[in-house]
Amino acid sequence: MKPMGPLPPEFASQAGSLTIGGRSADEWVADHGSPVFVYDPSIVAARVARFRAAMPGIDLHYAMKANPLPAFLAAVSPLMDGLDVASAGELATALRVKPAGAISFAGPGKRDDELTAAITAGATLNVESEGEATRALAIGDALGITPRLAVRVNPDIELRGSGMKMGGRASPFGVDAERAAALIRRIVAAGADWRGLHIFAGSQALDTAAIVETQAATLALAARLTEEAGAMPPLVNLGGGFGVPYFSGDTPVDVERIGAALAAGIAESPLRTRHAIELGRWLVAEAGVYLTRVVDRKESRGETFLVVDGGLHHQLAASGNFGTVVRRNYPLAVADRIGALADDVVSVVGCLCTPLDRLGDRVALPRADVGDVIAVFLAGAYGATASPGGFLGHAPAGEVVA
Ligand SMILES: *Cc1c(COP(=O)(O)O)cnc(C)c1O
Repeated sequence: MKPMGPLPPEFASQAGSLTIGGRSADEWVADHGSPVFVYDPSIVAARVARFRAAMPGIDLHYAMKANPLPAFLAAVSPLMDGLDVASAGELATALRVKPAGAISFAGPGKRDDELTAAITAGATLNVESEGEATRALAIGDALGITPRLAVRVNPDIELRGSGMKMGGRASPFGVDAERAAALIRRIVAAGADWRGLHIFAGSQALDTAAIVETQAATLALAARLTEEAGAMPPLVNLGGGFGVPYFSGDTPVDVERIGAALAAGIAESPLRTRHAIELGRWLVAEAGVYLTRVVDRKESRGETFLVVDGGLHHQLAASGNFGTVVRRNYPLAVADRIGALADDVVSVVGCLCTPLDRLGDRVALPRADVGDVIAVFLAGAYGATASPGGFLGHAPAGEVVA
């Protein structure tokens, strides 16, 4: 038997039938079919409330690539101060729910038509290179629109213990810290609308002390760059990187401790400006559940397999093939037996014809048979849109907002 990660608190406290947004998993599947992702915005609202209490005065941005479903975005975006987008497609979706002044566009390889769309709309471009800044300024000139430009900095800081390191090394993201001041001076001299700094050092960090340390170093870097460039940033986006516990032994981030340290750091910083934190998975991962029905229960050489009608084509991350080195089990449950005795050891496999398609590897669950629904938790971020939906030609999963 291998351990599973912890159920998110809203579900761990339940017993019997799993309820998502006031309705049972069986009802969601009856109405919307299987497999289906169900997203509960009230869980996002609870995370936002916790953030607001822990970090008064800090802007909260949502990195919408974590979950860009338009209906979900419409439900949660009023809770956010800003949206961070990473393509012209996300920009178009974001503009339906937020004013352009609250949208920033990061990401390497922005094409001229994407720069044009952002400048025309009035969204902020977080420029990732000197070349991109040059193109954005030229496009602004040609359009007769002053572009809103921020500089994304590739920091000389690494977020210790983060699942995905984004700083401290050669990177396609951002301008190296040692060249950022010169670029800021050029942007200001060119007459662009200077929007500030974007410094993102990593993702999926669970080590609170490491996050505190990184934020302190980020504040110091922002102050240094401001002094070197001689231009006050209207906004310093400190990145985020708060992780969620996916696996056995993972512990949640202590947001209150981060907030206290950040408030102290800002009080000591020479910068008199606004600060933002941008988060994706911490806000939305726990709000989503992927429901998939058991199609077959079979034995092979002493192992029991529950074969479900979903798989990695919908929820790649749970199969261990999205950003993890070692495959470990996401939290799973038999949807109508939450809290029941887990006296069966099974492997939950998807319907794809590849051994990679394993959603649970020798996990302990209450006994489940054909027709039962398996719940895969932590499916609210990097699920449907971060999975290879075209692989093997199965239908897409449903996605519903509770
Ligand atoms: C993806 C991304 C995020 C969100 O990361 P999470 O791990 O989902 O919080 C934030 N900022 C930038 C620049 C990103 O690319």
